[in-house]
Amino acid sequence: MEHQKSKEISEILTSESSPTMGRQGTTKGDELPNKSSPSMGNIGLLVEGYPVEGLSIGGQETCVIFPSLRIAFDIGRCPQRAISQEYLFISHGHLDHIGGLPMYVATRKLYQMKQPTIFVPASIKESVERLFDVHRALDQSELRHTLIGMNVGDEFQIRKDLKVKAFRTYHVIPSQGYIIYSVKQKLKQEYMTLSGHEIKSLRLSGVEVTYTVTSPEIAFTGDTMSDFVVDPNNADVLKARILIMESTFVDNAMSIEHAREYGHTHMSEIASYAEKFQNKAIVLIHFSARYTSEEIEAAIAKLPATLAGRVYALLQGF
Ligand SMILES: [Zn+2]
Ligand SMILES: [Zn+2]
Repeated sequence: MEHQKSKEISEILTSESSPTMGRQGTTKGDELPNKSSPSMGNIGLLVEGYPVEGLSIGGQETCVIFPSLRIAFDIGRCPQRAISQEYLFISHGHLDHIGGLPMYVATRKLYQMKQPTIFVPASIKESVERLFDVHRALDQSELRHTLIGMNVGDEFQIRKDLKVKAFRTYHVIPSQGYIIYSVKQKLKQEYMTLSGHEIKSLRLSGVEVTYTVTSPEIAFTGDTMSDFVVDPNNADVLKARILIMESTFVDNAMSIEHAREYGHTHMSEIASYAEKFQNKAIVLIHFSARYTSEEIEAAIAKLPATLAGRVYALLQGF
């Protein structure tokens, strides 16, 4: 039975490039339907040395994957490449960001992968627990995972060399973004000239020979109004090596007011705040299904010169 299920799912997974996968429906607050069917190949970006995969279409599905860190931000409808990621960070409870959550946990179990660790805003943790309880009642499985609720400002050490911090975002329902920090131990200046042997004996005698350097590597906003940019507590978001932020609307056909009404960002606001972004790279996501990749690229080309050459777009599915 299990074998049969594996076969079915692996068939589904290997036929990922099927053009029959529809993209119906639109971003909340965006009335235009019928995005044409995308190609679902594993085309991703290479940003600051990190492969970036996944897809993000406003109102439909958002899942952004850093396979080299085994991390996914939001799960969308649970695309195939998300399943092998061990850590999942959920920004908020809208279905285009959380809909595939039970499938993610169930499919990892099917492939006998380690149970995943899932981070959610603390305010929705109980609801997510209930969601899993409903699925356990439905399929009599355990759906084992570790669920961690985080409040804005909370930090969590993921691995020895990585930690995460939740930051405030501004959406129409409770939401938050995440900053991934690299954590490195460096030898203190005064011990630089010592031999390895001398350093080791110092360490064994209880001397603290290293200090910790943390630096913001990746920040992910999820859905938010542009207000997060001017939140004084979000300085590290604007300093992260890579900022992944939403830009649901890109042209004058949709106003900033419209974007704000639905808790989203308009690309013209990113242009206005151009001077504030110290990031080496900015990956724009969550474009409305109303746009073509050509329209999105044309809008990016018009961004201020201070952003030139460091703005990427996740255009999978457009
Ligand atoms: Zn969304
Ligand atoms: Zn949303």
